[in-house]
Amino acid sequence: MEEIQRGTYKDIFEQLDTMALITNEHGNIITANTIYFTMSGFSREEVINKKIESFIIGNYHPEKSSQSEVFVKTKDKSEILQWLIVNPVYFNRNSDSLCIWLLTDFQVSGYDPLTKLPNRFLLHQELNKAILTARKNHSIFAVLFLDLDRFKFVNDTLGHSYGDILLQEAALRIKHAIGNHNMMARMGGDEFVCVLDDVEDEKGAEQYAKKIIAEFAKTFVLKETDIYITTSIGISMFPFDGDDVESLVTNADTAMYRAKKKGRNQYEKAKADISAGSFEKLLIENSLRKALEKDELLLYYQPQVNLKTNSVTSVEVLLRWEHPDLGMISPGEFIPIAEETGLILPIGEWVLRKACQTMNDWQKAGHPPVRVAINLSARQFLQHDLVDQIKMILSETSLEPNLLELEITENMVMHDVHKAIGVLHQLKDLGVTISIDDFGTGYSSLNYLKEFPIDTLKIDRSFIYDIDKNSNSVALTKAITTLAHDLNLNVVAEGVENYKQLSLVKQFSCDFVQGFYFSKPLSYDHITDFLLNQKNTIRKNA
Ligand code: C2E
Ligand code: MG
Ligand code: MG
Repeated sequence: MEEIQRGTYKDIFEQLDTMALITNEHGNIITANTIYFTMSGFSREEVINKKIESFIIGNYHPEKSSQSEVFVKTKDKSEILQWLIVNPVYFNRNSDSLCIWLLTDFQVSGYDPLTKLPNRFLLHQELNKAILTARKNHSIFAVLFLDLDRFKFVNDTLGHSYGDILLQEAALRIKHAIGNHNMMARMGGDEFVCVLDDVEDEKGAEQYAKKIIAEFAKTFVLKETDIYITTSIGISMFPFDGDDVESLVTNADTAMYRAKKKGRNQYEKAKADISAGSFEKLLIENSLRKALEKDELLLYYQPQVNLKTNSVTSVEVLLRWEHPDLGMISPGEFIPIAEETGLILPIGEWVLRKACQTMNDWQKAGHPPVRVAINLSARQFLQHDLVDQIKMILSETSLEPNLLELEITENMVMHDVHKAIGVLHQLKDLGVTISIDDFGTGYSSLNYLKEFPIDTLKIDRSFIYDIDKNSNSVALTKAITTLAHDLNLNVVAEGVENYKQLSLVKQFSCDFVQGFYFSKPLSYDHITDFLLNQKNTIRKNA
């Protein structure tokens, strides 16, 4: 029995994937596996019964289980850097002990020998796990990227041994600040990364960054020398600043650089990059490119109520983006990026086609016709084949042209008035109607409006929202309505949210109302319900 077991153990020892040796209580090598002999180049005779110190160089403590970075000597007098795991084994209380020495490749070990922290390879794995978990739980977490300020100076002037102690000490302080339950890793050099999954928001991550910075306020005492050193920190948040390991770490790193530039000893958030534009834009741009293919875009519809008939004669189509990780993104966030990158062209075409199709289907299902109002972006309006595109979509979807309304803004037409008038006439010739959106926020030149073949003015929400408190808004809304009527234009009051606003715009003879008071933008199913039950809903509220 014992023989079999001994044979089995020997087998296991041989089949280990790493170099392995066994020493006796005197530190003499009693056996080693074939991998060791192959890699070191020594023969059995050259090794057996010799002191382990002659073959493995480094700081190790065979009297207890420990791990460290060592060099393994080879026959050709070179040295291989390896991660050592030593493990003493006791067979019974009185007997002498043996010690097992396992030597593995660095990256495989996953730990930094100096600080005993996970290294960048293990960090990568752990971050991947954190991402999967957060996706599943719809939770967030923070990544902090730290770099010690002026570490190189300490290292160069005081020497590496000081540098090493400083790194170990710094690691302890960071760990102390973030707590044992949060993970941290050494990236190499004087860089550390923390993964904080107990934060509820960015504020939580900032609290940790402040705590770390406070830990560095105390001087470090290295071999009786006082050293004052600080750290700069970059913060990125999953999923807002990146949804993979690469982008989370890179963005935290970039933010850290900004903290350095601002004078060190502080933190910066990757978020700031968003306003600076670079990263978030790229992220949105990249996923926006795929959003169309992946069917993540959808249309919502907001009714416009005709105040004379108390019925819905048209609905405005409002684009929505249901991002798999970020949730619902509002057009205010992604349309400007789509504009800038040109993605608005395929997206705009999709909106036009989809909306016309839907309205035609709605009619085919036996419902009374409603007009669809679609927003055009500046870039779409300048597109040379816009008129042809719309013509084609109308014929493909067989929607009656007078059921399509195009919303443009003043600024779009003021760019090149002459050209704009030409395009608008061509569109009118197709039979579609045209409205000016957000009126009052741009040029607001009623003089010019005379020249444009348009049908409707939509008074911007900013006039309506304080119409019950601000006499300027009252005067402007009144004036716009009167002048628009003189020009034979319909007037829509946008953003009517309460009864008071409704009664005022009614008093000024606005023709249509669009706003949360009657309805928020609705999904297809909900707008269908709304339209079918409108008699009750609208009459009750009007
Ligand atoms: P917009 O064309 O002026 O659309 C009206 C916006 O006001 C919508 O915001 C709507 O949800 C909001 N709104 C309506 N009633 C109220 C109200 O009573 N109170 C408040 N607070 N808000 C109200 P949304 O859907 O976020 O769209 C924002 C803008 O994005 C739109 O402004 C439009 O300029 C643009 N947009 C939306 N869909 C498209 C599209 O398909 N193509 C293009 N080019 N732009 C679009
Ligand atoms: Mg609009
Ligand atoms: Mg508007």
